[in-house]
Amino acid sequence: MRVETVGPDGTPEVAAVGAIHGDEPAGVRAIERFLAEGPTEHLRRPVRLVVANERALAAGERFVDADLNRVFPGDADAAAHERRLAARLLAELGDAFVLGFHSTVSFNEPFGTLADLTPEKARLMGALPLSHAADFTGVVEGRSVNLPRFVNVEVGPQGTDAAADDAYECLLAYLRAMDALPGEVEPTPTTHYRVTDLLEKEPGRTYRVAVENFERVPDGDVIVRSRDGEHVVRAEGDVWPVLLSADGHESLLGYTANAARPIETAVPSR
Ligand SMILES: [Zn+2]
Repeated sequence: MRVETVGPDGTPEVAAVGAIHGDEPAGVRAIERFLAEGPTEHLRRPVRLVVANERALAAGERFVDADLNRVFPGDADAAAHERRLAARLLAELGDAFVLGFHSTVSFNEPFGTLADLTPEKARLMGALPLSHAADFTGVVEGRSVNLPRFVNVEVGPQGTDAAADDAYECLLAYLRAMDALPGEVEPTPTTHYRVTDLLEKEPGRTYRVAVENFERVPDGDVIVRSRDGEHVVRAEGDVWPVLLSADGHESLLGYTANAARPIETAVPSR
């Protein structure tokens, strides 16, 4: 794990993390570019920048022993590299608010992922240059988004210069939104998707996706079908596909949401 702290002295309350998955280099490229040529001299708050899974990054693999983004909070004494790494990463991040970077083959524009929406998370999603934020509350556990002050941005296509450029723009917008960099925050309308269902592949089949991510699929329409026609998934009620792709993941097709609305109206009242 590489940890860099830039800006004024003090305990960082603003952080960004790349290489949560080793085969998604866009966030690392954004962090390295910021360290090399970013406006670090203008930082008004200390910022912690982390390249998390250097071993997986060097290998070009999603992970070495276990998926880092399934094993939070981790265990400092575990045998698996990523379980130890998760514990060390959380110790480095402390109480900071964190932007995590991921890459996807499912969608070419940046979008957010989160869970347990708070006013702070909603504000950050609105301040980043993205239009969609997928909320995985209750659907996933052990992930970074389950942490109280953590949101992710997904950039794509995985491994491209375009993804790295989008990650950099998101990093700058994030630092402005956190008041770590001067400059106007330009809020963008962001739609919040309440993710409810996980779509899995049947072993041995290959698939064809029939719909677009974040676009409404009416009740009964085909979302995805296997190339042999034996496995067909249809919308039950109106749904919105999220992270859906035929070959982005070994066993997973993606997710569906059952509601979409402006993110500022989605924050639970307390
Ligand atoms: Zn990822």
